Amino acid sequence: METKILTCSREGLALAKHYIEEGDVVAFHTETVYGLGANAFSDEAVLKVFALKGRPADNPLIVHVHKEYDITPLIDGEPHYAAALRKAFLPGPLTMVYPSTGKVSRYVSCGLDTLAIRVPSSPAAQAFLKAVNLPVAAPSANLSKHVSPVTARHVFDDFNGKIGLILDGGACSGGIESTVLDCTGEIPQILREGLVTREMIAEVTGQCNVYRAKSGERPKSPGMAYKHYSPRCRTAYFTRGELEKAVACYQEEEKSGAPCFLCESEVCALLQEYQTLDLGGTPEEMARRLYALLRQGERQATLLIAIEPQEKGGVMAGVMNRMKRAFGVEHGTEE
Ligand code: AMP
Ligand code: MG
Repeated sequence: METKILTCSREGLALAKHYIEEGDVVAFHTETVYGLGANAFSDEAVLKVFALKGRPADNPLIVHVHKEYDITPLIDGEPHYAAALRKAFLPGPLTMVYPSTGKVSRYVSCGLDTLAIRVPSSPAAQAFLKAVNLPVAAPSANLSKHVSPVTARHVFDDFNGKIGLILDGGACSGGIESTVLDCTGEIPQILREGLVTREMIAEVTGQCNVYRAKSGERPKSPGMAYKHYSPRCRTAYFTRGELEKAVACYQEEEKSGAPCFLCESEVCALLQEYQTLDLGGTPEEMARRLYALLRQGERQATLLIAIEPQEKGGVMAGVMNRMKRAFGVEHGTEE
């Protein structure tokens, strides 16, 4: 199958609508990462997404809708704070988990009685979702466990010949996946940290918890159980206090391979005589650059050596979560 990369032109949108209506998948741009979308009402289409990615069958998908789409038939009630959150953050990088009416394919939520819904803000995502006017179930458009895609080229690298269409909206401005927020309880609870932070949510709702799976417990957001976001080269991870050890590790690798550091700008400046990939200086920059640099790193290095950023606050909780999981420093309770 030829994989076309088209913008959201009339031709691109018409082909996307055709594929989705036929039960096929389409990759599309959002402000977080690219998604691999299918008609959420169709069992067959949703199962194709799992098969294409090699995604574990117990890792549920997020349903994407355009901003005028009426989600009330899909959700079985909502807590008092949900409307205020939608008003504050949607369209945007916040996924809200509601009690489900079970109207979409049962494969979307993998047997859970909840449904995760997101209204992406990127004009390309809105144009695509408006054209199909259906809830589109979509995980990130990468092979399972690989680094999430933030350009159409990244999607192409993982799915060339396997899908018919990538809707190209340029590079993703956000760079890490949406915040997943459980909105089924009295107090909203973050299941996956992202670009909408706990502080931002608490400002609207008064309170907001961050869920941490206890050891041995099946996590509430099943995706968090898996090793994720991994570059396809060997990796090492050091804190800033271990810089000397990190340099020794680099020098050892240099004897037979091609090491490269991944670190914030300030540390890159200290490591000028070595190969470095610069994450930037602010939390937003690091979120935006992380995945593209992990993919660049796996292409050019045999060993990618991360130095833990010192930056705190803002979206750093989300950035650190992705970075530690990419480097195998932290992953869920099982693999
Ligand atoms: P991805 O689309 O690859 O970014 O992954 C979607 C994330 O949303 C995963 O971490 C899932 O576990 C989470 N998710 C999707 N649906 C639900 C749900 N109904 N309840 C809790 N988490 C969910
Ligand atoms: Mg993913």
